[in-house]
Amino acid sequence: MALNQNAALSDEEIQKRQKKEQIQLTNRMRLIKHKIVILSGKGGVGKSTVSTNLAIALSQAGKRVGLLDVDIHGPSIPKMLNLESSRITGSGDALLPVELFKDFKVMSIGFLLKNQEDAVIVRGPMKYHTIRQFLKDVVWGDLDYLIVDSPPGTGDEPLTIAQSIENIDGAIIVTTPQQVAISDVRKSITFCRKLNLPIIGVLENMSGFICPHCGEQVDIFSVGGGKKLSDEMGVPFLGRIPLDPEIVVSGDNGTPYTRAFPDSATTKAFREAIGPIMRLAGKND
Ligand code: ADP
Repeated sequence: MALNQNAALSDEEIQKRQKKEQIQLTNRMRLIKHKIVILSGKGGVGKSTVSTNLAIALSQAGKRVGLLDVDIHGPSIPKMLNLESSRITGSGDALLPVELFKDFKVMSIGFLLKNQEDAVIVRGPMKYHTIRQFLKDVVWGDLDYLIVDSPPGTGDEPLTIAQSIENIDGAIIVTTPQQVAISDVRKSITFCRKLNLPIIGVLENMSGFICPHCGEQVDIFSVGGGKKLSDEMGVPFLGRIPLDPEIVVSGDNGTPYTRAFPDSATTKAFREAIGPIMRLAGKND
């Protein structure tokens, strides 16, 4: 994947190249029925955890799924799926995702790093080019769903995704029950509205605690903020994913939670959350 290819090109050549790239990107995306971006107002709310487990839940429902991690500064999907030693394969403008299991493919910007501890220093325009190249070069083939895990906030990365993928179904916004996180969600909602990016819904993560001893749900933070905010802003509410200590363990040892605990209450919450995603009607259905 060559970066900064436009250096020393005339304006006309740049335009020609951009047109060619857009055609390739459109053709790749055309093979994917539904494209969904996962956003959060701030980091640490469990956006990557939610992206991974929603993607797995969709695959458990028999769908062909791709998970794309474009978190340039902190790609965490490779660690969550025990793919830290994976590197980009394929050549030129045909990069192959990792097939973790049947009909479940993963690509992460982290696969570009020699060492997972390496810091990526990429400025705005370069982020745009890097993400667009990922979108146009990764050979997903035919998929039912592409789940895109975007970095927190409303910066270059989600902007590039929203502007580059034609027919994107929309965004899922992940939050936690605490008010401070919720005020950031308003910014995410406003961001989507400004870009005409449909909002599939708000998902409240770390919402209530399932006691590992008695199985009872305890609400340790205030609850209902996500639902209240969704109602207030007129966007769908996708549900609550409890705070579950096993999610941390699964994330740390690279076993996706919903695969490791297919019958738990938390997995059930993920399954309920994909309901509206499964009901999305796309042009390609
Ligand atoms: P983000 O992508 O928003 O920065 P992560 O998905 O990396 O957040 O999650 C941050 C931390 O919170 C991780 O250690 C993860 O295992 C943990 N986590 C996320 N969701 C839950 C949950 N529902 N219950 C318990 N821990 C969670």
